[in-house]
Formats: sequence, structure tokens, C-alpha cells
Amino acid sequence: MHVLVTGGAGFIGAHACVALAARGHRVSIVDNFANSCRGVLPRLALLTGSAVDCRCLDIRDRAALAELFASTRFDAVIHFAALKAVGESCERPLEYFDNNICGTVSLLQAMSAAGVRRLVFSSSATVYGTPEAVPVREDARLDVTNPYGRTKLVNEQLVDDLCRFDPAFAVANLRYFNPVGAHPSGLIGEDPGGIPNNLMPYVCQVAAGRRACLRVFGGDYPTIDGTGVRDYIHVVDLARAHVDALEYLMDTGRPLTVNLGTGRGISVLELLRAFEYASGRQIPHEIVHRRPGDVAEVYADPSLAARVLGWKAELGLDAMCRDAWHWQSLNPDGYLSRTRPGQRVAASARPPVTAGADAVLRGG
Ligand code: NAD
Ligand code: UDP
Repeated sequence: MHVLVTGGAGFIGAHACVALAARGHRVSIVDNFANSCRGVLPRLALLTGSAVDCRCLDIRDRAALAELFASTRFDAVIHFAALKAVGESCERPLEYFDNNICGTVSLLQAMSAAGVRRLVFSSSATVYGTPEAVPVREDARLDVTNPYGRTKLVNEQLVDDLCRFDPAFAVANLRYFNPVGAHPSGLIGEDPGGIPNNLMPYVCQVAAGRRACLRVFGGDYPTIDGTGVRDYIHVVDLARAHVDALEYLMDTGRPLTVNLGTGRGISVLELLRAFEYASGRQIPHEIVHRRPGDVAEVYADPSLAARVLGWKAELGLDAMCRDAWHWQSLNPDGYLSRTRPGQRVAASARPPVTAGADAVLRGG
């Protein structure tokens, strides 16, 4: 298959490109580099074995998308492109509605016009809001608490309606729990700009000495040790699920909504201990008041994905911490080079030489 990956230069998208290539699929990326760097492209070329076709394009640019779909015959699309910071979405809701919802409509229009009707969509466990019970099943009540979550829920509803009223369309909504980790090569990983919002990249930066201390948000939740419990999933497992979902859509033509998690709840302190073990470093931390909007405990019932896709998370917390730390220590400043909007990206250059790149080149 030739698969268009929107947001393919981002954290999860880049890992999905590697997983697609590993299963023999051809990949093209569109990304406006609003939250990613072109430095990922030569590393993707290394990992996939060929130059990556990438266009610097905003998916809301209907003319540019139409031109792309007219010039290239895609079999399917995986749609990662979105803004994803919950706090920022509360400050700038309209920006999130425009980018995430209008962007999706623009993409669906381009797909429809070109006769491409298979889509895998990046949704999120955030659509469950504060779950009534854990583990959370797909038929749990949906209830979003912030504009980012709203964009995920609205997009799910839009694509569900599209599949209902145009049965030629088949879309898989994948509800991710907490993606962490990095590719084991250390070549690609999470590269947050500014102060990380999420736990694992923050812990990585404390371990690396870039930040002094982790603030643990809340020590008085009704959980195993008082700290928040989440379902962390290795990004390599998550990436593989996208290929499984895509192949399912191609085989069956049936729409699908599934949770992607391990099914295991991990507290903040449990993750800290596992990270300290994996990195051999102490993580200074202090327990502070709860973060507004956080819930005590969320983890998935991932059994539907196992039944329908034959997918199960294989990598545990130790691998998540080991690979996140490997990426962080090889790339203390992430990908470094940032692209400019409007720039067409050619990805044939050799990657910057890092220990990880050397290891891959040596077959390590
Ligand atoms: P990311 O920010 O690393 O990747 C998103 C990519 O989309 C970036 O490269 C960004 O530049 C690009 N992009 C954004 N708006 C665009 C636009 N209008 N046109 C073209 N490109 C655009 O984020 P990620 O962590 O890789 O997340 C990927 C997807 O998964 C997102 O849809 C996100 O909402 C969803 N998700 C992420 C998490 C998480 O914790 N990382 C959890 C649940 C769901
Ligand atoms: N968390 C924390 N300190 C941080 C960032 C996060 O204690 O600097 C906690 C947060 O309260 C939650 C867990 O870590 O219990 C996961 O938070 P994250 O932001 O990574 O994911 P999400 O809130 O989306 O589940």
C-alpha cells in the first residue's frame, strides 16, 4: 500500500512510518512542522532504508492537498496531524477547533474527491473524560473536559457519520492511552518544545540535568500510593497497532473504534522507580498539589483490540523507560534543526552522526 501519513514528522507519526515500512508499505508524509523538526527525516530514511517523501504542508490548505491527491494515488491515510496540548487548548480553543477539526474536514474532502476511503484516526483516551469505572471499555460514557478532547470527540463523530452515510468509507478511531518511550535505536523519539507537559519527557529532562526536580501532581488520590495512575504504552507497540488497523480496514472495509493501552495502571511513583532503575539516575521529585483537570486513575480494557486486530502491547514499563532514556541521552537537544513553513523538504541527506545512528549503521 501507499499510505499518506499526516503529522508523520511528529512523535507517534514517525514511529508509525517505521512500522509501515517494516511491513512493506510505501509512505508519504505531510506535516507543517508546527510541532516537529525536519531533522527527523534523515533518521527516518536510515530506519526505513530509503529517502522519505515528505511535503511541508498544512492540511487546512485545501488547494495544496487536492494537488497532492491528484498527483499521487494513495491507498489509505493515517491521520496524526493535530495540536495536542491540553492547557494550550483551554487558552486558545478556536485555534484547536480550526487546526484539529477543520484540518480533518479538509483532509476528508481531499480523500473523498480522490476516491481514497480508508483512514486511521489518532483519537485519545481523553474522550472518556473522568471514567465511571476502570478498566475503561470502548462503550463507556464519553465526556470531554477540555477543547483538545472536544476536537477528538467531534472528529470521531464526524468520521462515524461519514462511514454511516457513505458506506464506501471505513475509518478506524484509535483511542491511545499514554504513549511513551522511543525507537530502540535511539534515532527517533519525543522532542517536546519548551517545558514538557507530560510526565515521561519531564522525567527524562530531570534525569539529563536539564530540569532540577519533577513536581508530582497530587499525593492524595485514592490510588495505590496516592499518585495518579495511567496506562503507559510503548510508542513502538502503538505504531504497530496502526498498521494492524490499516490492514484490517483494507481487508474488511468495516469501521472500528478501539482502545490502545496495556491494560495495566501505573502510578507516577512506580514510573519514577522504573525510570531510576533503567537510567541508573536519581530523579529528584517533590509532591505538590493536584493539577487541575487531572483524574485519579485511567487505564484501558484493551481486549477489543486483541479480539479484532490480534494486537497486544508487548513492551513493558522497563522497556518504555529504557528506550525513553536511551533517546534522551543520545539526543539531549532533540532533533535540533527546525524547518520553516512553506519549505518543501527533501530527505535524502545523511543523518547527523550520533551514537544511535552509528549503532544502526553497524547493525547494532
Ligand atoms: P506531535 O505533535 O509530535 O505530532 C503531530 C504532528 O502533526 C506534528 O509533527 C505537527 O507538526 C503536525 N501538525 C499539526 N497540525 C498540523 C497541520 N494543520 N497540518 C500539518 N501538520 C500538522 O504529536 P504526537 O504525540 O505524535 O501525536 C500524534 C497524534 O496522536 C495527535 O493527533 C495527538 O492528538 C494524538 N494523541 C497523542 C497522545 C500523546 O500523548 N502523544 C495521546 C493521545 C492522542
Ligand atoms: N504528572 C506529574 N508531573 C508532571 C507531569 C505529569 O505528576 O510534571 C502526572 C499527572 O498528574 C498524571 C500522570 O503524571 O497523573 C500522567 O500525566 P501526563 O500529562 O503525562 O498524561 P495525561 O495527564 O494526559 O494522562
